[in-house]
Amino acid sequence: MTRKNLKGLTLKELREFVESLGEKKYRAGQLFSWIYAKGANSFDEMTDISKEFRSLLNHTAILDSLELVAKSVSPTDGTTKFLFKLHDGLRIESVLIPAEENSPGAEKRLTLCLSTQVGCPLDCSFCATGTMGFSRNLTAGEIVDQVIQAQRHAHRRITNLVYMGMGEPMLNYGEVMKSVEIITDDRSLNIGARHVTISTAGYADKIRQMADEHQKVKLALSLHSLHNEKRKQLMPITKKHSVDDLVQALEYYYRRTRRRPTFEYILFDGFNDTDEDIHRFVKLSKRIPCKVNIIPFHSIDFTQPTGFAAALKPTPLNRVEAFASALRKSNITVMIRSSAGEDIEAACGQLAVKEAQAGGRRARQRVQVSRSSPKAGSTVPIM
Ligand code: SAH
Repeated sequence: MTRKNLKGLTLKELREFVESLGEKKYRAGQLFSWIYAKGANSFDEMTDISKEFRSLLNHTAILDSLELVAKSVSPTDGTTKFLFKLHDGLRIESVLIPAEENSPGAEKRLTLCLSTQVGCPLDCSFCATGTMGFSRNLTAGEIVDQVIQAQRHAHRRITNLVYMGMGEPMLNYGEVMKSVEIITDDRSLNIGARHVTISTAGYADKIRQMADEHQKVKLALSLHSLHNEKRKQLMPITKKHSVDDLVQALEYYYRRTRRRPTFEYILFDGFNDTDEDIHRFVKLSKRIPCKVNIIPFHSIDFTQPTGFAAALKPTPLNRVEAFASALRKSNITVMIRSSAGEDIEAACGQLAVKEAQAGGRRARQRVQVSRSSPKAGSTVPIM
């Protein structure tokens, strides 16, 4: 009999499991808190559970954990990047980001950036993860375990989560939302839904679904251009969901939830930082109250980009500030994000698992996996 992995089960699923073993329902609550609140690695640690039940659990269940393979800490800002190995040998990264000094509530805030897929199929031209290709979706257990494992290494409580690591959360909607259900439960990791942000490259249907389901987490859209043709060049997903479709979906989302979405916007020199781009934003803000996060473009030269991708350059700082202040003049809330973790390639879009080989060969070697029908077991290990 194969033993069931309990990490990643919701409280309801744990109840069904303990009942299937002929045990009382309340046992599920105990398991839930041991697995997620206390981060237990084994059933033997669960000292308030009877020896008999623990022995039954050892025969019928497992607690699958990510294996920490490497950890790098930025000497400049303390950002910590974790490299985890999954049970099938594939690898993912998560990043722990301390709040910028002097930002409001900085001493309390600690944010973890989570991966939702191994690699990513979307192939955005500016993103390192895209160069890895796509291997598979993560399970809810693998998503939640990133938080449990990172918490062990953190000096204080992780307070915020951003689903902005490797992968596209909306392509793994079910497992992502299940992980949110587990993480936000006050008997579990107890991170408030309002402190959790899910970021998407732009799936209009899923944005509507989040609104219909009254998901309480925050929503961010990686916009990067309001010009449909330009956005297609940056983000091929725009061929499927146009800028207009996305704006309509976000209008719907705002009307139903009354929550303002955040727009992520990387400024590329001379490409999406012109006065016309400002004008488009101002027009948009008349339809949807906008919060804009300006992200500095982090170089992905280590992936050896060619063509259009190689020509993308960051907007100079004085222009970034001028762009931000023009938006602010139109009552748009603007944040200019810092480059936390850039020195250890832990910044946005730099999460491409690399070959740590002598000779410095780097991860640009595309992982050769089928994008159309990824089969478990047929993927090529990334390292
Ligand atoms: N697929 C999701 C989440 C992962 S990407 C999404 O697209 O939102 C997380 C964020 O990092 C996105 O806003 C993405 O556009 C940004 N990003 C990707 N590559 C980047 C780079 N090289 N420099 C700066 N930001 C980048």
